[in-house]
Amino acid sequence: MNIVCVYSITTYSLKKELYSPGDIPFGISFVATVLKKAGHTVKLVVITPTTPLHEKLSTLIEDFKPGLFCLTAVSSQIPIIKKVGKTIKQIAPSMYVALGGAHPTLNPAEVINYDFTDAVCVGEGERAAVELARQLEFGRVPGGISNLWIKNPFSGHIERNKVRPFRDDLDDLPFIDREMWEPFISNKKGKIYTVLAGRGCPNRCTYCSNHALARISSGRYVRFRSPDSIIAEIKELLAFDPNVEIVFLETETLGANLKYTYHLLERLTEFNRSLEKPLEFGTNVALTTQIQDNRNLLQAFKDANLLFFRIGLESGSEKVRREVLNRPRYYNKDLIEFCRLSREFDVKYTINILIGLPGETRADFQETIDVTRQCQPTFGVAASIFFPYPGTKLHTVCRQQHLLQSRAGTTFFERTSTVLNLPGFSPWQVKKELILIYYKVYKGYKPWPDIASKTLRATVEAFPWIKRWISKVIHVGYALFR
Ligand code: SF4
Repeated sequence: MNIVCVYSITTYSLKKELYSPGDIPFGISFVATVLKKAGHTVKLVVITPTTPLHEKLSTLIEDFKPGLFCLTAVSSQIPIIKKVGKTIKQIAPSMYVALGGAHPTLNPAEVINYDFTDAVCVGEGERAAVELARQLEFGRVPGGISNLWIKNPFSGHIERNKVRPFRDDLDDLPFIDREMWEPFISNKKGKIYTVLAGRGCPNRCTYCSNHALARISSGRYVRFRSPDSIIAEIKELLAFDPNVEIVFLETETLGANLKYTYHLLERLTEFNRSLEKPLEFGTNVALTTQIQDNRNLLQAFKDANLLFFRIGLESGSEKVRREVLNRPRYYNKDLIEFCRLSREFDVKYTINILIGLPGETRADFQETIDVTRQCQPTFGVAASIFFPYPGTKLHTVCRQQHLLQSRAGTTFFERTSTVLNLPGFSPWQVKKELILIYYKVYKGYKPWPDIASKTLRATVEAFPWIKRWISKVIHVGYALFR
């Protein structure tokens, strides 16, 4: 059967939809890959706010004749995905449309009631997608498929199927098909690729979907792929693109299981010895008591050629971290010290921070700036405006405290403007902090031209209409001069 998998981008892209191969998302890639492996012909489509939807989808439906559309969405992608779903049904009312991803998983009752949705996937969707495609291919009215809520096309009755236990062995997953993303990547020579290392997180931060996702099913939620499987995929990657330089090991936090982490790092060290040009690695780390002061871990990072890790401060206010975010317990001094140690071992790091949290005042945010400056992030600062994801504890708090603006459920731009009314932190002040963050963190540490260019870039990113305008000029210029 012919199947279309749809991914959406909510920002305006200046050239192609994704910047580099490192931006390839895993969820829809795994679904597309397992469907291909099950013998189906799969086409990937990437939609942006400027995609001429009706034109693109009618041509696709007419030429490719799919029997199934698989859509995916986190909360901020829902407005654009709703447009996609409605357009599909306008063009082909009987087309089967299934929607999965974090938002449908946490809000299936809402999503199954969208006019265009025939099935909603709750949790890990690979097996459900294959079974759904098999039933549709044999002309059956789909039913009895674990992880799916299915709307009967005749009666409208909703069948709520049980959710399978979490996939126990991640090594069962195929390596994602990267070739299908090639037409959507501007910078193929980006030389950074991402490989899945694990799924799930043991922490329970209130703003993150992990605490809610962990509850949807039984079985082990925090899982890692075996080092053998990761290395086999890296070898395949090197055959696919010999110019790979950096492999980002995608997992919520690599230090969640230190025994595994040391084993993986040892294997990567060994693997690198077999390469003419050793690879560099990146990953995510959450600071916990086992990780702070951990020189052995930093030495193992260094030995494995781990170039950088991303670590969350999120808020410099210990009170906000404890009472609002439920972050793993660490004090500012612990993170500052861990950063100092990382510099000693010459392992770089990015500090993640959030702006505009419920209960946050400008004074609290000033603490975030002060602590981030003391951490001296050597690989950048990743600042985002807080977005309350429906289904998370912090979204409930925002709703109960009447902090949500009316556009909270319809905005495309989750990270460029706040969707909260905060008594001590106005929307403009929140946006201004996003624009000025690089300046405030690196003033006195980095040269002025670097600070000016990064601040200009942040300004463009903070105002999507500016980016849209630049994107139009680039596209018109490209069309005229090619
Ligand atoms: S540590 Fe990170 S991934 Fe884990 S629950 Fe907190 S925010 Fe989510």
